[in-house]
Amino acid sequence: MSRPIVATVNGDALRHNLSIVRQAAPQSRIWSVVKANAYGHGIARSWPALAQTDGFALLNLEEAILLREQGWKKPILLLEGFFHPDELPLLDRYRLTTSVHSNWQVKALAEAEPRAPLDVYVKVNSGMNRLGFAPAQLPNVWQKLRALDNVGEMTLMTHFAQAEQEEGIVTPLARMAQASEGLQVPRSYANSAATLWHPQAHHDWVRPGIILYGASPSGAWQDIASSGLKPVMSLESELIAVQTLAAGEGVGYGQRYRADAGQRIGVVACGYADGYPRHAPTGTPVRVDGVLTRTLGTVSMDMLMVDLTPCPQAGIGSHVELWGDNVKIDDVAGAAGTVGYELMCAVTPRVPMVLR
Ligand SMILES: *Cc1c(COP(=O)(O)O)cnc(C)c1O
Repeated sequence: MSRPIVATVNGDALRHNLSIVRQAAPQSRIWSVVKANAYGHGIARSWPALAQTDGFALLNLEEAILLREQGWKKPILLLEGFFHPDELPLLDRYRLTTSVHSNWQVKALAEAEPRAPLDVYVKVNSGMNRLGFAPAQLPNVWQKLRALDNVGEMTLMTHFAQAEQEEGIVTPLARMAQASEGLQVPRSYANSAATLWHPQAHHDWVRPGIILYGASPSGAWQDIASSGLKPVMSLESELIAVQTLAAGEGVGYGQRYRADAGQRIGVVACGYADGYPRHAPTGTPVRVDGVLTRTLGTVSMDMLMVDLTPCPQAGIGSHVELWGDNVKIDDVAGAAGTVGYELMCAVTPRVPMVLR
């Protein structure tokens, strides 16, 4: 490796975060959500550390097959189901549980010829208005699916739009209760936020994603500060140059930062082509040589600049933590107007990623 940037995935932190989920939802089984290449951590790299889970949930058929080929024998849930009927033979072959959210999927299941019945998750739209049957359609859809020989175990599923808010699940839960009145069936409702903050929504299977990776479902690190969750991904690099500015001099493209007085700044080998958010403004937290400091000016494609005022000892080769154990990914995301989810998914392939 020539360029000093590296992303590391902490396997112990993944294991630890899964145990935190167990403690939070002791009566439920756990779908560990590893969609989007395990939220950017690498599914092949990450799943062994989560092997104590009850199942893995994701949405690419390719990712599901990879898990099977690597030896995972327990359940796999396709969160968005199949995208086309011709995928059904693969669902059958690899024994994948499928979400069913639309009538065309019910029809395709009826017409399929699996070797053995397929387990399904019937998805109801409780207010997100993204995927799922309208609550009023549920009794009819449930009956239709239940009558199919091709269908095995059935579970009722919904996904919350605002589970990070105190009252965010009241209306969706009421809609689900009304839609499923009289149905004695397994249920799976809870994402990370509901797993942490709404035990009444835990039911049979919880579906945490972001908290397994040690970031906040609300976008605010303070909200999970007392949860015991540990950051899993670190993005680290080094200073590759140092500049000394005179008062009034600008930094970087557009000269968006100007020094009031003489100032030492460092140049970090990390830019937006590595996945660091270009929208991160001056003042975004960063740690240089063990000291918390801030970014300066516009993030470039391959570099960004940092204030060395609080760390005069730092120089070329000094260690830089862009996010990780000390600089919370949620804080970097917050400064850039996004969420930790996006940053962890956005680390680009040119950044070497290693398990530690
Ligand atoms: C992504 C996803 C989850 C996990 O969400 P987090 O907020 O990361 O916990 C759960 N269920 C469904 C259907 C999802 O798409």
